[in-house]
Amino acid sequence: MAGSLNFLPDDRYNAFITTCREAPFGDGALAGVAVAVKDNISTAGIQTTCGSRILEGYIPPYDAHVVELLRREGAAIVGKTNMDEFGMGSTTETSAFGPTRNPVDTERVPGGSSGGSAAAVAAGLVPMALGTDTGGSTRCPAAFCGIVGLKPTYGRVSRYGLVAYANSLEQIGPMARTVEDASRLMSVIAKYDPRDSTMLDRPYDHQPSADIAGLRIGIPEEYFGEGVDPRVAETVRDAIGVLDNLGADTVPVSIPGMQYALAAYYVICTGEASSNLARFDGVRYGPAVDTRKTWHEAYQELRQANFGTEVRRRVMLGTFALSAGYAGRYYAKAQVARRNIRQDFERALRDADVIAGPTMPTVAFRLGEKTDPLSLYLADILTAPANLAGIPAISVPCGRVDGLPVGLQLMGRQFEDERVVDAAFAYEQEVRR
Ligand code: GLN
Repeated sequence: MAGSLNFLPDDRYNAFITTCREAPFGDGALAGVAVAVKDNISTAGIQTTCGSRILEGYIPPYDAHVVELLRREGAAIVGKTNMDEFGMGSTTETSAFGPTRNPVDTERVPGGSSGGSAAAVAAGLVPMALGTDTGGSTRCPAAFCGIVGLKPTYGRVSRYGLVAYANSLEQIGPMARTVEDASRLMSVIAKYDPRDSTMLDRPYDHQPSADIAGLRIGIPEEYFGEGVDPRVAETVRDAIGVLDNLGADTVPVSIPGMQYALAAYYVICTGEASSNLARFDGVRYGPAVDTRKTWHEAYQELRQANFGTEVRRRVMLGTFALSAGYAGRYYAKAQVARRNIRQDFERALRDADVIAGPTMPTVAFRLGEKTDPLSLYLADILTAPANLAGIPAISVPCGRVDGLPVGLQLMGRQFEDERVVDAAFAYEQEVRR
């Protein structure tokens, strides 16, 4: 494959789309550390496909900001990881390069859309990886594979060089086997970059602390309700009990806007996607259009042939939701619902310092088990709210159901990523003893 050489002992899991031999240099914070990078993050000289045929063979001429930082700190980028096409999915099954398998049980999905990054970390191929999270894509695969995944506060990590899916929702985030390693990677990638105009100058540089005495943990009933596997809910309640024993206090909170979260998320993300993906026209990237045809025919044929079913579905849904006469009915209402959810979290995070619940409503499902789009969209119910609100959220492994990992999700106030990291660290340290 372009720009790559195979050398990893991969790949029972199909975790990588491209592997590369890259000599680490420098003596920075990640000197000699092997890091895997999700394939929607631009890497100069290394193929970047977003899991899509339409970008097969595309080699970016520049590095994403986070990749510049990795290289500057001496990390070795060992490969580009498999993902749901353009990040659209929760299983990694929509990748044009075949699904990734969950290292815990290879008949199961690793979650998505950063499934390749999670599998590479869980299988021990790399200690840490970058994922991206638009509606749960670092946290879902972290939960399903039994690792740690963080979605930073919106505006804390530069999106420069990230191939956009839904700009207003997504952040690049660290994935690792331990909270400490996730925090280490976060400390490297969360630095101000004027090329992302939605960034705030709030660098992250933090050593996790397990002291959580007096921390107020909000428990939203909505996170333990209908649709959540009772065994998963029970496992997460036990984990919260561990934090309680460490001196934290639990308080009931409520996010009433949750009932509209998924509807709002899917209107906003498809709308933004339909606009972002218009640039894949066969002229600037990937397979070339047939120039003997009319523009309309050529554009249609190219996109028909090179976008998968889920991507085409979302482009159509998003175009519809934004079209004249319908935008007020869908997009404007979704924005109102989004604002309500953000306010619900603000209110809840006055009574509590962090909010805890399950990351996913179930454990990892079997490959091919869920095929209808709606049931897959429902899997994002507990993760997408943090993206709508722009707040930090982490998933930390907290036990198993039927031998499969369960994730404890901790969400916090904007720019208090350190606090959710500390709470996850306190839990992890306690259960590892
Ligand atoms: N599963 C969600 C979606 O398909 C989230 C994906 C993501 O965070 N990239 O949109």
